Amino acid sequence: MIEKIYEEMLSRDPDQPEFHQAVREVLDSLEPVLERHPEFVEANILSRIIEAERIIQFRVPWTDDDGNVHVNRGFRIQMNSAIGPYKGGLRFHPSVNLSILKFLAFEQVFKNSLTTLPMGGGKGGSDFDPKGKSDSEIMRFCQSFMLELSRHVGADVDVPAGDIGVGGREIGYLYGMYRKIRNEFTGVLTGKGMSYGGSLIRPEATGYGQVYFAREMLKTRDETLEGKVCLISGSGNVAQFAAEKALQLGAKIVTMSDSGGFIHDPNGFTLEKLEWIKELKNVRRGRISEYANQFEGAIYTPVDHNLDYNPLWAVDADVALPAATQNEINGKDAENLLANNVYVVSEGSNMPSTPEAIEHFIEAGILYAPGKASNAGGVATSGLEMSQNSMRMNWTREEVDEKLDSIMVSIHETCARTAEEYGYPGNYMMGANIAGFLKVADAMLNQGVV
Ligand code: NDP
Repeated sequence: MIEKIYEEMLSRDPDQPEFHQAVREVLDSLEPVLERHPEFVEANILSRIIEAERIIQFRVPWTDDDGNVHVNRGFRIQMNSAIGPYKGGLRFHPSVNLSILKFLAFEQVFKNSLTTLPMGGGKGGSDFDPKGKSDSEIMRFCQSFMLELSRHVGADVDVPAGDIGVGGREIGYLYGMYRKIRNEFTGVLTGKGMSYGGSLIRPEATGYGQVYFAREMLKTRDETLEGKVCLISGSGNVAQFAAEKALQLGAKIVTMSDSGGFIHDPNGFTLEKLEWIKELKNVRRGRISEYANQFEGAIYTPVDHNLDYNPLWAVDADVALPAATQNEINGKDAENLLANNVYVVSEGSNMPSTPEAIEHFIEAGILYAPGKASNAGGVATSGLEMSQNSMRMNWTREEVDEKLDSIMVSIHETCARTAEEYGYPGNYMMGANIAGFLKVADAMLNQGVV
């Protein structure tokens, strides 16, 4: 039956490889669930869960600083709202298309379910490239984007947040336009600034959560992150705060990257060096290559498109914390990681490992956490931001961090327990897919064929 559903999806949307990949992984995990729950088969939950409830695509015209008019494409995928309002980020990147946003929205459904908070799954964005644009161009683009998106979102309907290319600046411009159009001050977006309804720890949450998850996995082997050598990819929001938390827990970070290449600092990053990177990336919006000119001993390696592997993943280490983009670890990279004795992979980016890479990790029996579990701290803290907005109050930094930490502990526990219950002990991918699915499937079953 799973094969038939998969084939139907392929013939319906043949040109969406990332979406196929995400669906395949989840469907392949669900065989043991369907054996125990024939009611899900009877209600055809699988065919329904892989079909978006609604897809919105729209034109986003905007004017650059020289007066030239440009047109980009905007999207919002409202994937599943069985357990709460749609929730998921917006991505602004030239690679954005339906396949990428559908894969992200699909993953989001299971991730949000794992957080235990009442949030459905969605994702959106645009093929707009923020790189090299002035602040006023970014503002005009965000305003035009929200002019249309505002018809489809709302605090109890669909609550977007940031993702690649969408950080605090973009959320601010989007929020301002929503407020003006709707004449209401509500929690329609998360990741807001602290002066207008944001939550402390939200910027840190995905990276911190990713490291908390790694810490929990290591705990099962009576180990800690103290002294562990870590590879981080990316140098954006998730990577910066994964690095910060890993450093606080005593790990040694030796790599970070951007789309141009990676830096290897064998001396390890310090909190001071990380502050320099934050300023470089968030304020000056520069390239990671500059790090090698700034700090002695660091080596910059530009991306080489002729290589069939990423040399970042061939650096000696114990732990890998991918935090850049999808499919950034292929089969060969996984082989390199394993050959260099990496035995913890906690994913911060969404679907960073290809199916071949995951197969290698699972075969090798290492501590491998899929993004939908280990990067769920971001959306979980967005859920906490929504609660604070509804209550019209703010929790302290310590309160939010404590809640984030306990949510990550609970997601880890749920994945481990579910994997065990279904006969796959230690397999966090099976645990995450099954546990995430069960809650949504149950809600869909109870709500009838809608
Ligand atoms: P940012 O835009 O802040 O940073 C992205 C980083 O990854 C940058 O260093 C960027 O380099 C690099 N990158 C992006 N695309 C590519 C590419 N195609 N090849 C190589 N490097 C690339 O995004 P985030 O940190 O927010 O997101 C990173 C990942 O984490 C994404 O997969 C996202 O979906 C996921 N995620 C994010 C959450 C969040 O709360 N922000 C929540 C859960 C998951 P450059 O600067 O050169 O573009």
